[in-house]
Amino acid sequence: MSHPEFHHPHDHAHQQTHQHTHQKEQAMTTSNESPIHPLALRLAGKDVLCVGAGTVAARRIAQLLDAGARVTVIAPQAVASIAEAAGSGKLVWLRRGYEPGDLDGMWLAHTATGNRALDARVAADADAQQTWCVNASDHAASSAWTPAVARTGEGTTVAVTAGGDPRRAAGLRNAIALAADTGLLPLRRRRSGTGSVALVGGGPGDPGLITVTGRRLLAAADVVVADRLGPRDLLNELDPSVRIIEVGKAPGDHLATQDEINAVLVAEAQAGNRVVRLKGGDPFVLGRGGEEAAYCREHGVEVSVVPGVTSAISVPAAAGIPVTHRGVATGFSMATGHEELSELPARADHTLVLLMGVARLARNTATLLGRGLPADTPVAIIERGWCPDQRITIDRLDSIAATAARIGVANPAVIVIGDVVRVSPHAAGRLEPAARTRQLLPVG
Ligand code: SAH
Repeated sequence: MSHPEFHHPHDHAHQQTHQHTHQKEQAMTTSNESPIHPLALRLAGKDVLCVGAGTVAARRIAQLLDAGARVTVIAPQAVASIAEAAGSGKLVWLRRGYEPGDLDGMWLAHTATGNRALDARVAADADAQQTWCVNASDHAASSAWTPAVARTGEGTTVAVTAGGDPRRAAGLRNAIALAADTGLLPLRRRRSGTGSVALVGGGPGDPGLITVTGRRLLAAADVVVADRLGPRDLLNELDPSVRIIEVGKAPGDHLATQDEINAVLVAEAQAGNRVVRLKGGDPFVLGRGGEEAAYCREHGVEVSVVPGVTSAISVPAAAGIPVTHRGVATGFSMATGHEELSELPARADHTLVLLMGVARLARNTATLLGRGLPADTPVAIIERGWCPDQRITIDRLDSIAATAARIGVANPAVIVIGDVVRVSPHAAGRLEPAARTRQLLPVG
């Protein structure tokens, strides 16, 4: 409570704290027009009462337990999560209605019974004994609000209230969390001394196709070791103090060797930096991420892996091609070339996805034709998938190599071979409508 000698000129509520009258309630309402006073509570080991045990209460109780509060729940019935928490001793559940005296010894109360009158009674009792109370059914009359909270990492908590409108607060909180995750807020902490490496899959190129975790790590990085492929646009958004080391294609077309890349990762981490190794697609799909992770571990550098959206699946999708499709293909294989192609299933209903396959396209198609894959099996080549200059070329197995050579198909490109190509809206008109096509198109 306030210091006894402090009397705010408008604080009628304070002056009447000890009169449990109707008049007092009105005074409380008036005082609620004053600006709220945000506080961050340390609840560890503190008793908190929750009256009501429905879904709203369950969310709050989970937060209170996270904060280490000693939670007592009062309700005749409870949702499963609360009953389970009681069963495992994480909280105390008194299976009965609210009674006067239940608030004794409580630092904070929360009432969410679904019954407005009962919530009001709990809140009034709490006021009477100077216990803060969040009243879920009446924000305006509530002595305390639960803000919408975002934990933005590195010990930062953002709490938002929006004039008692929880939806607006949650919307704003989400926007702040997104800005934090994407590096738009200056939340990078000072270097801590222990460096680390995160192998982050950046997806096929579109900045929207990196994971939320990947983006968050990127926003917190001191050093980014970047490839030629992947979401290059994200590099432009990084704080100017972030060092970007290009290992894909350095000026003068020098490609860093894997040994050089490994050495850079370890050296930067050992210098205390948070290093993000940003890779195209998924780090563990033809990305040598396994070697980089092993090298870091061997050198005592903490390393984590954040999976990414691999081009093997997502680049066909950019052309509307599902790698499997009911009634068309139940499986797919990914390969880089010749040797594997002489062993993988050569059937139009088993999708083949070739990465890094442009140079050997003629040889690869000859191998597949030689293995009996029908000449009219459709093939799609998607160059620069998910990038603004994406190009899709679709043709038959026996003519795709000549077509690709004529129009100058170039890396990076994903080649898809199999009947699933017919599912693409881009296939219409480019392949002769084989009799079996109609059968193979999606049903329903
Ligand atoms: N780890 C990556 C693959 C790296 S190998 C992943 O999971 O996607 C590099 C090959 O990936 C390229 O030769 C090309 O075949 C393919 N590739 C990557 N990004 C691509 C893109 N945006 N469009 C087309 N092909 C792409």
